[in-house]
Amino acid sequence: MNSKAIYLDYAATTPVDPRVAHRMSTCLMFDGDFGNPASTSHQYGWQAAELVENARVQVADLINALPTEIVFTSGATESDNLAIKGAVFRTNHGHVVTSSYEHKAVLDTCTYLSDKGWDVTFVDPSRDGLVDPAAIENAITDETIIVSVMHVNNEIGTLNNVQEIGRMCRDRGVLFHVDAAQSVGKVEVDVKSQNIDLLSISAHKIYGPKGIGVLYIDRNAHSRIEAIIHGGGHERGMRSGTLPTHQIVGIGEAVRICKAQLPTERKRLLSLRKRLYSHLMQIPGVSLNGSEDERIPGLINVAFEGVDGETLLLALDGVAVSSGSACTSATVEPSYVLKAIGLEDQLAASSLRFTVGRFTTEEDVDLAATHVTDVVMKLRS
Ligand SMILES: *Cc1c(COP(=O)(O)O)cnc(C)c1O
Repeated sequence: MNSKAIYLDYAATTPVDPRVAHRMSTCLMFDGDFGNPASTSHQYGWQAAELVENARVQVADLINALPTEIVFTSGATESDNLAIKGAVFRTNHGHVVTSSYEHKAVLDTCTYLSDKGWDVTFVDPSRDGLVDPAAIENAITDETIIVSVMHVNNEIGTLNNVQEIGRMCRDRGVLFHVDAAQSVGKVEVDVKSQNIDLLSISAHKIYGPKGIGVLYIDRNAHSRIEAIIHGGGHERGMRSGTLPTHQIVGIGEAVRICKAQLPTERKRLLSLRKRLYSHLMQIPGVSLNGSEDERIPGLINVAFEGVDGETLLLALDGVAVSSGSACTSATVEPSYVLKAIGLEDQLAASSLRFTVGRFTTEEDVDLAATHVTDVVMKLRS
């Protein structure tokens, strides 16, 4: 293949915005701000510390938090681990409530805790791909320490009512954690009005670099979370390790751009997604997985009846998309997310995820849709 495939996999990761890359590059070399933000005895350290604190304010501003409530981590996976393990290790016993279609960073953490003897309830989402707040409320017991429910599902793009779940958690005195890796920067997130105690963010889903993320910890929840990485006591003792100035400046700039462009980008991505969807809907036997209305602008997950998803992926060499299925050595397992929302194995195995993003054009969408249509028709005949 001569040219690169059309990239429609922005939910997996995004390219770094050039403005972000530029800012990061000024924090690496001798003539830049390379200092250790923890060095308090000279200018190099002060300068780096100031950049870190500026980024902290930018992240806090995006989600309506205080800068002191922002903890920098290596990404959303670490943030999820810190939130959930940090809460249960504090108490040494108790119950965790989550959903069965969380990202593996939450799911595997909860399974690990369950294997270690903690009590965990996995609540199934509904057929339209949403977690019913009432189902979470029913799962909460007097022993529950923490509830963890994702804001937007990374495979199907559906948007949960976290405000309502958060309100119930507050009423019961239970910590509420939200994995917001797929929602921050794309839809409004307000940790205060949405009653969120802990919130995970990842930079590389919002045009920032890989390897940096945030855990927001509400100031009233701070004493209920225990660190899982110990060392120099950085980040108010919550996460030790020398702060990576360039990465932190990167997430700060990424977040600044998202905040400034959110309304226009949301409109643009919604229009691109609808364009793609209406193209694909012309193919017979195509259906959307998850609610059509309660979703982020840029993502659709579509089932192509009678076509094997893996075969389709292989045949689609000009379009970069993904299926949620996991390949083990011998077999291809259909996506656990699609199974959790009640899709039959066969339909789950014939589903693909398409995500448009900041650098997607109408031409990309049209070309990709034509290509998908051709390949599906060919495979069916
Ligand atoms: C990408 C993603 C993660 C993992 O984030 P990393 O920064 O790559 O560790 C966690 N949760 C969701 C919902 C994601 O989409």
